[in-house]
Amino acid sequence: MGTTGPCVALSERYAIEGADGIDVYEQHGGYVGLRKALEMQPSEIIDVVKEAGVRGRGGAGFPTGMKWSFVAQDTGKPVYIVCNADEGEPGTFKDRELMERDPHQLVEGMVVGGLALNSVQGYIYLRGEFAHAGRQLTRAIREAYAKGYLGADILGSGKRFDLTVHRGAGAYICGEETALLDSLEGRRGQPRLRPPFPATHGLYGCPTTVNNVESISSVPFILRHGVDWYRQWGTEKSPGPKLMCISGELQRPGNYEFALGTPVSEMIDACGGMLEGRALKFFCPGGSSTPLLPASKADVAYTYEDIMEAGSMLGTGALMIYSDQTCVVDTVLRFTEFYEHESCGKCTPCREGGYWLSQVLRRIETGNGRMEDLDLLQDICDNILGRSFCALGDGMTSSITSGLEYFRDEFEAHIREARCPLGTTEPRRD
Ligand code: NAD
Ligand code: SF4
Repeated sequence: MGTTGPCVALSERYAIEGADGIDVYEQHGGYVGLRKALEMQPSEIIDVVKEAGVRGRGGAGFPTGMKWSFVAQDTGKPVYIVCNADEGEPGTFKDRELMERDPHQLVEGMVVGGLALNSVQGYIYLRGEFAHAGRQLTRAIREAYAKGYLGADILGSGKRFDLTVHRGAGAYICGEETALLDSLEGRRGQPRLRPPFPATHGLYGCPTTVNNVESISSVPFILRHGVDWYRQWGTEKSPGPKLMCISGELQRPGNYEFALGTPVSEMIDACGGMLEGRALKFFCPGGSSTPLLPASKADVAYTYEDIMEAGSMLGTGALMIYSDQTCVVDTVLRFTEFYEHESCGKCTPCREGGYWLSQVLRRIETGNGRMEDLDLLQDICDNILGRSFCALGDGMTSSITSGLEYFRDEFEAHIREARCPLGTTEPRRD
């Protein structure tokens, strides 16, 4: 077990003025990892990432080194590395800040990834709304070309890598990796059937890896400081630092960096605690797609394995904190309306189920619910979970089923009293 608590790793240069420009970036360790990578064999770079134990920071936690080793190298087709910068999970805002404040670490990570995978072309698929991040990345890429870190002959090594930023158009589903690839190819973004995974059939049908911004940005750090440095934090199964988006009813919500393994309650304290006069009621550990957990579980260590044992998922590292003044039905309704709106419509359970879930939750929240609605909600969720084409459908059910599990009495009170007991929503007679 490594150390836990607040740490400074990927956010190392956030406080340094001018670190978003290449000169200051270089003065503070920038492009050292790339120089090391140029002296290594591709398989050696992948081995380092595997030994460090980096797990995908986009939400699924799949081991990054293993994912890279799955990328087919013997097909005769080009290999692509794609960065998923379509950060859209509600409560998640770590990648945006990383790209805005230290864009070169992502650029450097992409070049190192390209070297590891024998890829000569990378894409950063950027969420369309991230205008400033787009400007920062475009400038960083221009600077990297000018200094020879990108292009036909990287630092005179004879190795090539080109990098392009592609801006999305604001659809949440384009954060799903195969929908992202469809969108990048110029088509409507909808998930593809997996398998085959992008590792063998990705962009333009070629071997492709799709990795999150934070995952890719970790790689130059690991090459520069070493595997032991990365593993000084966290646990055997969840090593390393984690950028955390901590939001909600706190004194100082915001982006923080913590070692994995830090208890959620300690993170809340680091944010100055709850707002005056409010007590923790429940929290969402990793974005709106992850099940809610009650306050009684706040001492859980923030690792993939511990959060899972507690009944939820680490997800994107978006810890959302709710107090006793917040209505759980209203929270769940808001999440569900988001998924209903963002459903791509490809499969029936999600397209139809999202609509029905919103309808039922809305009538409960506005005082028009019936007791049998609670079983109906559970039944609809049971027909979505595991029957949807992609993870969006499954994610839609998480807050509803966990909300019913831990706060059924609050759902029942809405129905019994024909109003929101916390007064969040005015009663409405339709
Ligand atoms: P997944 O577990 O199905 O896959 C994870 C990754 O591993 C993928 O890249 C996949 O290609 C790869 N993979 C898995 N098995 C493989 C195999 N056998 N061979 C080769 N590659 C393999 O998860 P997912 O559907 O890609 O992602 C779901 C997650 O996305 C959710 O947990 C959610 O939290 C997260 N999410 C994040 C955001 C965001 O803004 N960051 C938005 C929406 C959802
Ligand atoms: Fe589209 Fe939803 Fe089906 Fe995913 S689960 S393919 S978002 S309709």
